[in-house]
Amino acid sequence: MIPDHANFSDMLARWATQQPDAPAIVFGDTRRTWAQLRERVQRVAAGLRAAGLQPGDRIAVLDLNHPSCLELTLACALTGCANAVVNFRLAPPEIVYVINDAKARVLFVGPEFAGAAAQLRGQLPLLERVIHIGGATDEYEPWLAAHQPDARMHPAAGTDCFVQLYTSGTTGFPKGAMLTHHGMLAHARNVAATQALGAGSRVQVAMPLFHVGGTSYSFVAWAGGAPIFMMRMPDPLGALQMLERERITHTFYVPALMAAMIQVPGGDKFDFSALQAVSYGASPMPLPVMRGCLQLFPKGTMQQVYGMTEQCGVVTILPPADHENPAVAHRLVSAGKAIHGVEIEVRDPASGAPVPVGQPGEIWVRSAQIMAGYWGKPEATAQAVTADGWYRSGDGGHIDADGYVYVTDRIKDMIISGGENIYPAEIERVLAEHPALLDVAVIGVPDERWGEVPKAVVVLKPGATLADPNELVAWCRERMAAYKCPKTVDVLAELPRNPTGKVLKRDLRKPYWAGRDRQVV
Ligand code: ATP
Repeated sequence: MIPDHANFSDMLARWATQQPDAPAIVFGDTRRTWAQLRERVQRVAAGLRAAGLQPGDRIAVLDLNHPSCLELTLACALTGCANAVVNFRLAPPEIVYVINDAKARVLFVGPEFAGAAAQLRGQLPLLERVIHIGGATDEYEPWLAAHQPDARMHPAAGTDCFVQLYTSGTTGFPKGAMLTHHGMLAHARNVAATQALGAGSRVQVAMPLFHVGGTSYSFVAWAGGAPIFMMRMPDPLGALQMLERERITHTFYVPALMAAMIQVPGGDKFDFSALQAVSYGASPMPLPVMRGCLQLFPKGTMQQVYGMTEQCGVVTILPPADHENPAVAHRLVSAGKAIHGVEIEVRDPASGAPVPVGQPGEIWVRSAQIMAGYWGKPEATAQAVTADGWYRSGDGGHIDADGYVYVTDRIKDMIISGGENIYPAEIERVLAEHPALLDVAVIGVPDERWGEVPKAVVVLKPGATLADPNELVAWCRERMAAYKCPKTVDVLAELPRNPTGKVLKRDLRKPYWAGRDRQVV
């Protein structure tokens, strides 16, 4: 159960007082208690104040996962600043874009990125200081040690942003979603209402902290007083080993990582008996991967989550019971029901009017988890969030009569062929069952007659061959309406994916649409 916290400064104070010697974070050989975490965060807060940072200012972190990122985020909660966590997989011009967009005054940078940061320094005019974290040139520990703990707390209003996470940018330039105390606490409570998570839990953080699956999930654990077991990088074997070694009870992965986990030789020999919940989401789960995971992980642990940065993470959950009941096998392709505290409706994307049960439309979400807006982008915020608090997800989908939400596709990825709507995810699911295929994406490509038609872009399993790629078209024709079937097939060595495993369809489409406009709803 998650107790009431007024804000995250209050959360830190509570656990450091109530359970000072209990573990708060474990990272490699480093194990820190709540009392140690509070002292370090208060030193970092003093350091930020000494650097002249004022409430509302931004810092940025560019690093693989490291406890310092969460310490900095909590120190921002104490000072009224916000931590803009940079996606470390971005290309240099994108990193420049995010740091400048955040107007970050101080950049904290991990050893792997120190060289890049030095090279980019000239393009970051608002940055006053760079502080190295870890490695041979570590400046973070001496900086922290040089400041006395400052226990003052910023009187954070629920609507203050203390962590700024950037959307993954699959649909354009990344936007900084301002996540607030109120939103993150509501998220923590709403998620914990659907699964037993509290001080006795042991939570693995395997996903990157620049994503809600890393940072927001960490705060779900911490709000409940549970320790976090952090991985520096998502790593299939390392994650499985940690589950056994640390007797992990709760974890979250993306399907791309799980696809690699089920291939780990001897994976089934690990002891996962402490596991209570293996949550997965952030991108569609291919059914063959799900079947592999249902074999790998203990019965009653697999649960799908659907959500987005703008809502601090999770908005629906498909619980374990729906994964293991053959009578409701059709629900395996749904994302489950709205969690406690979250309303979901499907609306007509053009008019905003609700559509009847079962009919396709855009998924709209309303909850106290909502971001304060996109940093510096009031127009984009107004487009995304209605005056009465509904967030327009940009996802196409429908809700069935039992309240299960089905996420079909990003509306922008939907293919309109001769006036018919075609959902790439539906074709992808059919192709994912083909024995020769490792990975698949379906995109719309221009067509003289139909406007656009589906094309499958596939990756073969190691050692697999296709005598003729068109046999995949025939495979689809046996299983779905002819107008939906891909007309052509390309075989690639791998698909371009973002760090959370989403296929970058914009990149796949680009060569086919060069010089033409693609109309989307
Ligand atoms: P951008 O808006 O810049 O394209 P993004 O939409 O990728 O970024 P995120 O917040 O990282 O931003 O991802 C949220 C999106 O991820 C959802 O809107 C949905 O499209 C997808 N998603 C999340 N969970 C699931 C799931 N369980 N199944 C299918 N898709 C999911």
